[in-house]
Formats: sequence, structure tokens, C-alpha cells
Amino acid sequence: MSQVKLKIAIQKSGRLYDDSIKLLNECGIELRNVKDRLKTESDNFPMEIFFLRDDDIPQYVEDGVADIGIVGENVLFEKNKKVEIVEKLGFSKCRLSIAVPRNETYDGPAYLQGKRIATSYPFLVNQFLEKEGIQAEIHEISGSVEIAPGIGLADVVADLVSSGSTLFMNGLKEVAAILQSQAVLIRNSGMDEVKLQILNKLLFRISAVKKSKRNKYVLLNAPNDRLDQIIAQLPGMKSPTVLPLAETGWSSVHSVINEDEFWDKIEALKAAGAQGILVVPIEKMIV
Ligand code: ATP
Ligand code: ZN
Repeated sequence: MSQVKLKIAIQKSGRLYDDSIKLLNECGIELRNVKDRLKTESDNFPMEIFFLRDDDIPQYVEDGVADIGIVGENVLFEKNKKVEIVEKLGFSKCRLSIAVPRNETYDGPAYLQGKRIATSYPFLVNQFLEKEGIQAEIHEISGSVEIAPGIGLADVVADLVSSGSTLFMNGLKEVAAILQSQAVLIRNSGMDEVKLQILNKLLFRISAVKKSKRNKYVLLNAPNDRLDQIIAQLPGMKSPTVLPLAETGWSSVHSVINEDEFWDKIEALKAAGAQGILVVPIEKMIV
């Protein structure tokens, strides 16, 4: 009997590719030689990997050709397929925004009335226009949308933006965001029990990787008479570890600090008498 494998669709090449492969690797999933192939598999995890254009991924997952996939929310919502989002992955962040020629004054969605809008996202733009009660002409183009106003093809664009530099170079300015987007893990809605179990194993690993990125391991030296004040600043996973140093009167304190409170904590620890503070990245974190 052949072993059941979870089939994942990821982008063949482009902005999602590197981070998708990196995520799988960080989850300890080794892929067989991935160069120039349509699909590959892992030798140490029951997974088969399909390399596709990102636009095709929602359809493949809806049809069950792939069980799960990694795709941007922008593409997912534009394609409007029946799949489930299982996890936000935190990379490939961007937004779908309206941009107008730099010398124009945009005073809200009413500005778009009667305008020609170039975009690769007709569904999402249409949804936005309907919600705002605006009538405009959508020109669907598949690439280099930002040049459309310059060549007279459209008045404004609705395009993906991360830094805004591409818009700037084309004489445009971003005026309104229609959608905030990041990469997400999606799944087919009719997966069987065996595949769900493999998916849960993957999700457990993803969550450990994500947690480890939000936390740092901190080691510091503390004079014993300041230990109470120092420990009060540190939650740790249960409570901090305290070990005696060779030098009498001193201890080494180990703990985990969340990135949201990182600098506040470090300052408070210094003020409380901590010395020789070391901050170390965490590779995996299982709580
Ligand atoms: P494919 O050949 O797979 O169709 P593509 O050209 O459509 O590739 P990419 O440019 O590689 O797609 O972008 C893939 C995804 O990366 C986008 O759909 C979006 O989710 C994300 N992304 C993040 N930042 C940006 C950005 N500044 N511009 C475009 N996409 C971005
Ligand atoms: Zn694409």
C-alpha cells in the first residue's frame, strides 16, 4: 500500500516562492531537488509538492487536485474559490490600492466616478466600486498595470503596492487601499481524516516556527541581592531558570521575552541591575 501524502501547491517562481520553501524547511520538511520541476516530494514528511502559477492555486485546491496551498489573500479573494483559510503566514505582505496621477487631487471614492481603472483584480475592484456606489470602467490587464495611465490606456490603476516605489517611478501616488494582503495557507474543504491528521502535524510545526520568531531567549547575570526585582520582570515559559555562577553572590538567569515587550523589558532589566545580557534567537518553540 502506498503511503498517503498531503499534496501542497506552492508558487513555481516569484515573490511567494522563497518564503514558501523556507517555511517548509523551517518545519523540518526536506524537499527533493526542486529545480525546474512541476512536482517533487519529501523523504522525511508525507508530502507531495506541486509548483504552479499563484493564480491557479485556489482552483487546484478547490478541485482537490492539491489538498492545501500557499497563496496571497489578494489572489485568493480575487478568484473567489470555495476553499478554507487555515493559517495566516505573515509573509508577502502587500495591499491592493488605488493610485492616481501624482498631480491629481483625490477626494474620496467619488473621484473614481466615470474613470477608466486599469487592474489585474477586476473582481475585487468591482466589489469595491459597488460598495461605494461608484460607476467606473474596469480595464483588465495582466501585468505592468502601473504604466497604463502614462500610455493613455486608463485614468487610474488598482494595483499591488508594498513600498510604493514602482508607483512613484511611474508618476502615480497611492490614495486608497482596497485590501490588505499576506500569504495564507488554504485547504480543500473535503479532506479525509488521514490527510487532516497530516495537516494538523504541519500546523503544529508552523505554529512552533511562528512562535519562535516572536520570542527571544535571554540570558543575563544578576547579583543575588537583585534577583527578586529581575525575576519580577521575566515571565519565561513557566518561570525563569536561575543558576548559580562560579563567582559567589551572582546568578545566571535565563528566560524568554516576547518581541512586543522586548526593549521595555531589556531596559527594565538593566535598571534592576542585570549585567552581561545576551539575546539569542529561538529556532523552535513548543509550549
Ligand atoms: P505567477 O507567475 O505565479 O502568476 P505573479 O507575477 O502573478 O506570479 P508575483 O509578482 O510573484 O506574482 O507575486 C506573487 C504574490 O506576492 C502576489 O500575488 C502578492 O500576494 C505578493 N506580493 C507581495 N508584495 C508584492 C508587491 N509589491 N507586488 C506584487 N505582489 C506582491
Ligand atoms: Zn500570478
